[in-house]
Amino acid sequence: MDQASEIREKIDIVSFISEYLPLKKAGRNFKANCPFHNEKSPSFMISPERQIWHCFGCQKGGDAFSFLMEYEKMEFPEALRILAKKAGVELKSFKFDNQLTSEKEKIYSLNRHALKFYQYVLLKHSLGKKALFYLKEKRHMPEKLIEAFSLGFSPNSGSALSNYLINKKGYKKQDLYLAGLAFETGGRTVDFFRGRVMFPLSDHRGNIVGFSARILDEKTDTSKYINTKETSIYHKGSLFFGLDIAKEEIKNKEQAILVEGEFDVISCFKEGIRNVVAIKGTALTENQVNLLSRFTPKITLCLDMDEAGFEATKRSLPLIEKKGLTTTIIIPDGKDPDEAIQKNPDAFKKALKDDIGIYDFLIAKFLSLYDKTSSQGKGKIVEEMKPLLSAVENEVVKEHYIKKLSKEIDTSIESIAKEIDKYQSGKKSEKVAVVTSDKRKRRELLEEYLIALIVQSEDLILALEKVNDILKDYKFEIPSYQKIMDFMTASIKHEAKIDGKKISNGLPTELVKSFDSCYLFPLPSFKSESKYLEDLEKVANELSEINTREKKKLMSKN
Ligand code: ATP
Ligand code: MN
Repeated sequence: MDQASEIREKIDIVSFISEYLPLKKAGRNFKANCPFHNEKSPSFMISPERQIWHCFGCQKGGDAFSFLMEYEKMEFPEALRILAKKAGVELKSFKFDNQLTSEKEKIYSLNRHALKFYQYVLLKHSLGKKALFYLKEKRHMPEKLIEAFSLGFSPNSGSALSNYLINKKGYKKQDLYLAGLAFETGGRTVDFFRGRVMFPLSDHRGNIVGFSARILDEKTDTSKYINTKETSIYHKGSLFFGLDIAKEEIKNKEQAILVEGEFDVISCFKEGIRNVVAIKGTALTENQVNLLSRFTPKITLCLDMDEAGFEATKRSLPLIEKKGLTTTIIIPDGKDPDEAIQKNPDAFKKALKDDIGIYDFLIAKFLSLYDKTSSQGKGKIVEEMKPLLSAVENEVVKEHYIKKLSKEIDTSIESIAKEIDKYQSGKKSEKVAVVTSDKRKRRELLEEYLIALIVQSEDLILALEKVNDILKDYKFEIPSYQKIMDFMTASIKHEAKIDGKKISNGLPTELVKSFDSCYLFPLPSFKSESKYLEDLEKVANELSEINTREKKKLMSKN
């Protein structure tokens, strides 16, 4: 048995996936809302017997490995490492040699080496002295804190890191370019980050995907902060600074505090506020919201509320609502949380306790922007609030704010609700064109349902024989279904007792996916065996009729 199979045997897919998604029992299977596409009713199914999963909405499916790879956007070697650890299996033979190591894995390890170098320079080398002084004295960071966040320093000389990685660690300069750590100019390899305090950017599992870097001498005319350019593993707007460190606390507190920058996270951490992550830049993306929603039901914004920040917040709110998260906001006393905390940590903590609902904040904000006594002002306020309120999922919450708004601007609840309805139905008609229902023909749907009934039945042989009786010379529209039927019919010839699980063991690999989807197909619950058989016959008969009809049509055409 290879190690992947050994691991597969030891991990129960139901309890494994339940660490990521809330599961509900559905007959012999479990179901959940699919994490890989947006849906409101569950079509993601898991079979404990066969240790597989399948989504009937997006057609993805597989085993524990493929779930982890899909969910965490990771590749096989990493999934193998994680599941091996979980299963208590020690990986022996798996070597990460150059052939096997993916580009992703290579960049991770390159970044780890780069970070070690940056940390060494900051903490141990004379070239880092000034940066260390800056962090300790100007930013009030004790060395413990510098280490906790793995900060480093990139020396100003042109190619210190590149030389180290190439000469001491044996990397090729091409690897450095791929990782965004260096670039080529005039035939020379030059470090991308020079003279900057280095912040590693990790994904929530702690893989270093890139760096963010702050200039030390602010007089230079480059940006104060730069980040790794887009690489195959670093994509802007897909991670948070600090999530790897904050994620446990976020889970415990059931709250994530969102700040703008690295120093905001670090200053909060110093004060014992450890459920904080930085979005770095203004707009919260859908990827980021999805990521956070895995750890917390509540987000507290502590972002710049300048014009751009305010617009960005308005844009991200519907995304947050769509994920069903509660949002509150705090306004720090100062330019940012870092400054507010340096000024008065207790006041900041108090503000955090008194966080306000985002819609309360927005209503107050619009009331301050427009004249609520004039008809135009009222119109403007409702205009601003209606896209935001129409995105609110919870009807009670929505009504609460409609009422509040109604009181504030002295306008009836009905007319505000009407405006929101108008806005919503306008939105809906925009959408209809893209909503795709199951476009497959009835015949294909019936075929799938029929095979699902057979492979999930208590008495597979009886069910199959019954169907074969009715569908004597029927040819399945879907070729893989025909093959599955043929395979099962052949299998039962020399077996006295057989079930779907046993069939699946001998199945040719190209049929496994189709078979799995029938095996996990969510069947209705039948009151009795006879009701089940009734349904089976009904479906077989209808298919047989369709078949006859289509044959006739074909003949009359010829
Ligand atoms: P500091 O506290 O270090 O003086 P700041 O609080 O003035 O910085 P801002 O300019 O407000 O920093 O930026 C907030 C955060 O946004 C930064 O910490 C950084 O993560 C991100 N950021 C700002 N400008 C850029 C940029 N040009 N490229 C990438 N990220 C940036
Ligand atoms: Mn700052």
